[in-house]
Amino acid sequence: MAKEKETKDNRKKNPRGWPVGKKRVTKIQRFRRLKKNHLAGALILFVVIALFTHLVLAVFALVFLNSLTAQKLRTCYESARTVARFYEQGMVSGKSRSMKPVFDEDVVYLILDQNGKVIDSSGEDTRAGEPFPVELPGSTDVVTVTADQSTDFLKQGSLFLFDLDYGMLVRYVNHVKADHDSRFFTDFANDNRSIAEPVWITVPLVKSLSMAVQTNLYVNMRDLGLLVAFVVGMSVLILLIILILIISKISSFVKQRKMTTIFFMDEVTDRHNWMWFIMRGNQILTKRQNAHRRYAVLDIVFMNYRNFCVCHSVSEGEEMLRCVDFVIGKHMGKDEPYAHYASANFAAMMNADVPETLDERIWALIRDLEQIDTEHSFSFHVGVDIVDVSLDAQGHVVRRRVADVENDYNNACAARTTIADKEESGIAYFTDKMVEEQRWMDTVRERQQKAIEGEEFLVYYQPKYDPRTKMLCGAEALIRWDSPEDGLIPPGRFIPIFEKNGFITKIDHYMLSHVARDQKAWLDAGYPCVPVSVNVSRAHFVENDLADQIRQIVDEAGTPHELIEIELTESAFFDDKRAMIKTIKALKDFGFSVSMDDFGAGYSSLNSLKDMPLDVLKLDADFFRGEDGNDRGKIVVSEAIRLAKNLHMRTVAEGVEIEEQVDFLADQGCDMIQGYYFSKPLPKDDYVGRMLEKTQSE
Ligand code: C2E
Ligand code: MG
Ligand code: MG
Repeated sequence: MAKEKETKDNRKKNPRGWPVGKKRVTKIQRFRRLKKNHLAGALILFVVIALFTHLVLAVFALVFLNSLTAQKLRTCYESARTVARFYEQGMVSGKSRSMKPVFDEDVVYLILDQNGKVIDSSGEDTRAGEPFPVELPGSTDVVTVTADQSTDFLKQGSLFLFDLDYGMLVRYVNHVKADHDSRFFTDFANDNRSIAEPVWITVPLVKSLSMAVQTNLYVNMRDLGLLVAFVVGMSVLILLIILILIISKISSFVKQRKMTTIFFMDEVTDRHNWMWFIMRGNQILTKRQNAHRRYAVLDIVFMNYRNFCVCHSVSEGEEMLRCVDFVIGKHMGKDEPYAHYASANFAAMMNADVPETLDERIWALIRDLEQIDTEHSFSFHVGVDIVDVSLDAQGHVVRRRVADVENDYNNACAARTTIADKEESGIAYFTDKMVEEQRWMDTVRERQQKAIEGEEFLVYYQPKYDPRTKMLCGAEALIRWDSPEDGLIPPGRFIPIFEKNGFITKIDHYMLSHVARDQKAWLDAGYPCVPVSVNVSRAHFVENDLADQIRQIVDEAGTPHELIEIELTESAFFDDKRAMIKTIKALKDFGFSVSMDDFGAGYSSLNSLKDMPLDVLKLDADFFRGEDGNDRGKIVVSEAIRLAKNLHMRTVAEGVEIEEQVDFLADQGCDMIQGYYFSKPLPKDDYVGRMLEKTQSE
């Protein structure tokens, strides 16, 4: 019942049958299971074969001894019959009594009536147990045998005549030991000496009588030889079988070792691979003696690998990866595993008991890695996740019961991706804030479509003023997200996420169409409209028909093109230069102005100013932050304005907050100021108020 419910629930969650919600069985777990099964199976097989061999050999031994004893019994039977015949002749001739002295010397016999009662005897009755029939080999004769008190190897009713205790052999050995002189051996070898085992053979006589004769079952050197040869042969056979089993086990063990080595070997570096790293890392973390130790799990990335492969070849790139692996290995101590993960990524685990030392060690490693090829300058990014000691509720250090190096490595990777500068090496540590950021990214992604459909994005307008006339001369459209769950969210919290996940192109269309419609409505209402700039993300510039798209959106609203300005961020200028120039030219041909946003922030590309036919240069707010009256800053700003003027571009100063800056910019001939000094970004209605102020002041 419970199982059925579980399956139904799974179906609900997983309607298309995708493999979600299933517990993942890792390759290592599978490998361990296989190894365990293999060992257990081999062990069981070994025991079964050993037992079976012993059983077969025991059966053979018994059959052999059985037939040997039966053959000996034939001789006994013959002599008993001879004695009986003699006795019978005596009986017939009425001289049986007179025969007795002849036998008495060496023959012990009993005359039995039909009830088995002894009616006459010669010698002592030493029979033991009940008589039993024995079929003699090679004939139909059946002989009735009774064991003697001194014989313990003949058993009535047992499957074999010969008992399992190997009594006869033991007797032989003792006999030989007791008679340890050369004569004995000579006699024995010449078949003069043998040991006699007394046995009673019952032979029928006339008149329903029978005669039980005590005869000796003689075993001589030949029998002993046969027996010894048989035992030795069988032992050798057993040993051989066991030897073969052991050899096959060792060879399979060696094979398994080789397979394990291959399983844990990286294809590129020929050294340990990721699988081994996880296994070893988890082992170290969960060791009792390592409970007090902190560890750092590292994701080391060779940033130039792809480019290096493009410029050279993949095999040369792999050669570099082998060098990286080698250098990392030199920096690792005992119980500090490392391995190639994939592509240009390496995983490593370092001791992190002293955090400062850890940082030094990683930098030392990076510096060494940068030197792997003197002809190129390489950079390495390292993400670090610290695995702290584990504490119980009382704050005592406890052994880590479970470890998840894979998860720690993933955190290290997440930290590593926050290093922005691709050209420079760097280290980033994983923090809990990153988890929150990741969660926020997921939330934004989940909500974005619903938000755009529900018009949750608002257009704010930040006015631009002429610093000399203090008149409104333009505005920038800036997005705000009025989320039902989180209230008003600033663009810094979601624009970078949209840029990463591609939703930014939809947002740019959304903003452009809203601004165009607003401008058209204000124009129709007779307001004194000024050009409004709209931010267009660099992600948009990969589209060939961007200019056409913009024109179409603006035309749909029926807005004059001169009322729309397109802002491009400086970083966008690093992409395809030719396509960029083409788009800018097309936009200008359509009558739109184009501006370069955030000039001076991050990468400065004076070169792009040279090639791009831009209308407006927006000086980044960074120019106006920091120390007041910084002379060097002022020189840079005035030179930037002069440069723009020489290139026939207008200038906008962003982030201006104080009057002094406004006066200075007015003196330098800056055309527009966009900053809190004049106004913060305003909701639509407040911006309309600003426009109307303009009309009134006119
Ligand atoms: P941006 O295009 O450089 O916009 C200027 C930013 O500077 C705005 O921040 C504005 O509020 C802020 N700012 C203006 N004057 C001052 C000042 O005097 N002091 C200070 N501290 N800040 C000032 P906001 O609105 O948070 O926008 C941040 C960035 O988000 C924008 O930088 C732009 O890159 C992006 N963004 C905003 N709206 C959009 C949009 O609709 N599409 C795209 N693609 N990006 C947008
Ligand atoms: Mg802007
Ligand atoms: Mg800007």
